[in-house]
Amino acid sequence: MSVHFHYQDNRLYAEGVSLEDIASRFGTPCYVYSRAALTGGFRQFSDALKGRDHLVCYAVKANSNLAILNLFARLGAGFDIVSGGELKRVMAAGGDPKKVVFSGVGKTESEMRMALEADILCFNVESSSELYRLNEVAKSMGKRAAISLRVNPDVDAKTHPYISTGLKQNKFGVAYAEAMELYRKAGAMPNLRVTGMDCHIGSQLTDISPFIAAVEKVLLLVDELEKEGIALEHLDLGGGLGIRYKDETPPGIPEYAAALLSALKGRPQKLILEPGRVLVGNAGLLLTTVEYIKRGEERNFAIVDAAMNDLMRPALYDAYHDILPVTRGGHETGTYEIVGPICETGDFLGHERALPIAAQSRIAIMSAGAYGMSMSSNYNTRPRAAEVMVDGESMHLVRERETVEQLYAGERIVA
Ligand SMILES: *Cc1c(COP(=O)(O)O)cnc(C)c1O
Repeated sequence: MSVHFHYQDNRLYAEGVSLEDIASRFGTPCYVYSRAALTGGFRQFSDALKGRDHLVCYAVKANSNLAILNLFARLGAGFDIVSGGELKRVMAAGGDPKKVVFSGVGKTESEMRMALEADILCFNVESSSELYRLNEVAKSMGKRAAISLRVNPDVDAKTHPYISTGLKQNKFGVAYAEAMELYRKAGAMPNLRVTGMDCHIGSQLTDISPFIAAVEKVLLLVDELEKEGIALEHLDLGGGLGIRYKDETPPGIPEYAAALLSALKGRPQKLILEPGRVLVGNAGLLLTTVEYIKRGEERNFAIVDAAMNDLMRPALYDAYHDILPVTRGGHETGTYEIVGPICETGDFLGHERALPIAAQSRIAIMSAGAYGMSMSSNYNTRPRAAEVMVDGESMHLVRERETVEQLYAGERIVA
């Protein structure tokens, strides 16, 4: 458990605010973020990289709440986006588009236009077709687009197959063997400006070695480019640093940064990183209330008011999240399947958890700040959860709970 979420007299707190108080005030399910944890993570990057020209581009898809984007923007962050929608969010939150890098394999023409209009820092181009399209779009606007190629270094990130992106068989990036040829082509396109190289090999990496293997392969290409007179301004090494959900032992931010800096020694390029999960994952939790305890022949169930639509990771990746009682003591400890009300057997948040709970108890699903709210849906016509940011002794509602009317507001009945 992080220092920002802790027990005080057997009650679970986010910084100086008790989760019981948050639940009474805003209801459940509710995401709760610690401002100090968010700030602390970002500062660890800044501290570890000070002395080197760098830009930390927070990966918006991990958690795109405006309050979080605004907080990072004020700390000096840039942003890694994967859609035009995310660009709008960044700008709505006060982020600087000139610090935005745009990743993703399927950028549409209108997304390219929006990004060129906003003068973003760089497009991370993922295919030769995209390169041609971007050149055409930029030409039609009388602009030059700054580009990096996202190179696929073909290294095994040793993570869940759904979030591994740097292997030959993945849809991401351009093949390592084709990168040189594509850089030459890009260099000859009048409406492109080659400024960098990019790679991102996967998410929730708990070991430093695949990162270093990727850097080394990227640097070989940088050297080849230099021989041909193409000098790059920046190297973007992506995101992917893992966090502790259960018993993983990922390197800390300082250790990770030091290893990258050492691999990049003597290289003049600005360093760009795109961390997502490591900045927000353990800075947030999902607060939920037990509706029913249901005793079965083989298992006992705690049916809670959060579900797979609120937090998809257990259903999608069979991911583990620690689950803590909001109040300790008071109830006998039993072992439960923690499940939601959705009509799917995959709708679970945890298996075989020993918890001192009864109906109406509240529990906290930990490490839910990344890929929680941002992957949530309205399945079963469930309005999405409220989001609260705690700052010391104060709590701020940073997203209102959705209403059912909002969910069908765009729908029409046919006469
Ligand atoms: C998802 C993603 C990231 C962030 O990954 P984390 O594992 O959350 O750090 C960074 N860059 C790209 C291109 C991504 O797709």
